[in-house]
Amino acid sequence: PPQPVPQYREPQPIAVPPLEGRPFPQQTGIQVPGQSVPVPEETGINVLEDARIIKLVDALVNGKLSDITPVIDFNYKAGFAYPAVDSLLDTSEQETVKILDALANSEILIKQPYDRFFVDPDGLFQLVPVEHCPRDDSANLVKGQLVEHFSCGFVGLDKDFKQDARYVCPKCRKDLRLIGTDYRNIGMHYRCGDCGEVFTTPVIKWRNLKTRREWNADELREMEVYSYRFSPDKKGWLEFQLKPKTQLVDFLRLQGYQVQELAQLTGKSGAVHTFDILAIRDDILTKINLGIGILVANTGEPEVKLEALFKFDTRAYDIGINYKVVIAIPKLGPEAINFANRQMIRAFEARTLASVVSDITSSPHSKISLQSSLEAGSSHEGRSPAGNTSATIVRFLRNRGYEVYEKALIVGKSGIEHVFDIFARRDDKLIVPTIAIGVAGYDTGQPVGMEQVAMFDAAAFDCGIRNKVFIGLPQINVQARQFAKQQKIDIIEQQDLGRLM
Ligand SMILES: [Zn+2]
Ligand SMILES: [Zn+2]
Repeated sequence: PPQPVPQYREPQPIAVPPLEGRPFPQQTGIQVPGQSVPVPEETGINVLEDARIIKLVDALVNGKLSDITPVIDFNYKAGFAYPAVDSLLDTSEQETVKILDALANSEILIKQPYDRFFVDPDGLFQLVPVEHCPRDDSANLVKGQLVEHFSCGFVGLDKDFKQDARYVCPKCRKDLRLIGTDYRNIGMHYRCGDCGEVFTTPVIKWRNLKTRREWNADELREMEVYSYRFSPDKKGWLEFQLKPKTQLVDFLRLQGYQVQELAQLTGKSGAVHTFDILAIRDDILTKINLGIGILVANTGEPEVKLEALFKFDTRAYDIGINYKVVIAIPKLGPEAINFANRQMIRAFEARTLASVVSDITSSPHSKISLQSSLEAGSSHEGRSPAGNTSATIVRFLRNRGYEVYEKALIVGKSGIEHVFDIFARRDDKLIVPTIAIGVAGYDTGQPVGMEQVAMFDAAAFDCGIRNKVFIGLPQINVQARQFAKQQKIDIIEQQDLGRLM
């Protein structure tokens, strides 16, 4: 049989206008909404301006965290820590204590004594008491009952008298008979094995089990360890204070996302990760798993370090997040900015969460959507089967709020112009998901081969479009299917079109 010829369709490319003020390709730029903010000079913690504190308070208000009790463990540097809070906030043990105390000072947490112990001047607490002779400081002491033998006047420790089962005076060799009559107990005493001094109260020193150093009692510092409890009468007030995050969540829900706050997810590695906000939307042609991290510069530091961003990215990868957004408070450091660009993490920067959220939620959608509906062909009558399918897809995406372009002309990174059968994007403000769709089909019913899928894939790659859908009518062949799977291209065939109706 003669080779089927692909349907010839005259391309009438439409150049896709860039989104106003937004980087394109999507998700590669750093945005600094609002005016630039001076670096905060104070090194203290401002309750409810410090996003870590907000995160903690949020967990308390939502009941994700209840009583905060210390875990006392020799492995912690300070001897205790609040690991649940450390992992929630990504803070060091010491920083967590600072934050908890700041919240206690603001009467958001109620601080209660939990335990006490001593810390030596090295800051270590593994201390045991060691008794010393007050005369020569020797630790070679014997403790026992001091006994006086009336008849000869000998005074010694009880062990000096003991001979097998009897008590014999070591001076006069007489047996001790009746207490109170021929001898008496004076009381518990110590005797120095080095200088012979007898005394009732040894000097107590504290030996550190780790360093072996010994300290006088007055050199030690007493440490009190506290537990913290959420103050119930602050709940209403705090909920009001936490409004920015609630607004962001509401905004995402309005965009059709299913939103989980402080979402705990188990990654491919088996580790459990917490995301500040996880937003999922299944647009059928593309599934958006949006992970949002609120990253805050360490106390006293002017910017969020690379390390924090790296951690976020690693977690996102482990969970399978395909859209990554960080809100950096107040901003990212230069290394972190480069990393964000490379890893396609979209970053928003501002002094406070409130200012980021008000920028995101109040800025108008790009004006493109109006133009696009005019430019994309409005009449699909008299089209071929492929044309009819395109019309279905366009309608489907428009109904889901996408700007849709047919025969869209996009210039790739290489400088080459590519024409996509359908290009769609949706300005969710936080992210702008884009979809490239290729359509191919033969009237003869011959399956579409790999070459067309591969060309489509290369073009999408060059244009930095991550969501790829290839429609093969009536179907595509086995190699093309394998290739598509490997390249994460969604395949739609004649039989699947029903789910888009
Ligand atoms: Zn005697
Ligand atoms: Zn002594």
